[in-house]
Amino acid sequence: MNDWNIQSRSHHCQACQAPFSDAEKYHTVLSDAKSDYSRLDVCEKCWQAQYAEGAKDRKGFISYWQGVYEAPPPTPPEAIKRDDAESLLRKLIAVNDPQFVAAAYILAVMLERKRQLKIKEQLRLEGRRVFIYEQPRTGDVFTITDPGLQLDQLDAVQHQVAQLLEHGLNSPAPAPGQAMAVGAAVAAGEYVPVA
Ligand SMILES: [Zn+2]
Repeated sequence: MNDWNIQSRSHHCQACQAPFSDAEKYHTVLSDAKSDYSRLDVCEKCWQAQYAEGAKDRKGFISYWQGVYEAPPPTPPEAIKRDDAESLLRKLIAVNDPQFVAAAYILAVMLERKRQLKIKEQLRLEGRRVFIYEQPRTGDVFTITDPGLQLDQLDAVQHQVAQLLEHGLNSPAPAPGQAMAVGAAVAAGEYVPVA
């Protein structure tokens, strides 16, 4: 299972392929597909006809919810210059480098506090806490694994996050100091709690 992942909301029903229209109600089923999460978005009709019955008994079922589709704006007005916490989180997930697992977790917590992400579900998979967040505007779903940070590691990871927010992901690495070391240790599952 991936430690992190984004499942975008589909723009059409994945059963009948009809495009969703603005403000249309849709249904989402999230399930566990071996090495990853799989997301299925379907329209009301298909839901009633094929899925409503026994949805929760499907193999690997994790979560179900209903949403209201919001058509994307014609041109993303702020997407270009904004390198905020959310876009940084998306980039970290995209590069899929274990040294950023702890930073991604902290970013998700920050975004949840700012109400830019909503917790949909909290699970325990293979002994680790997994949070499923939704970006309410786009309907995208982020799955983030709790790296199990110790209190004494928080400072270093927060420092790493601050550096990334300030300098971005592609600028010269934020000094391979403590923060990176902690990130790597967390990723490798070698947390050393200091008594
Ligand atoms: Zn449909």
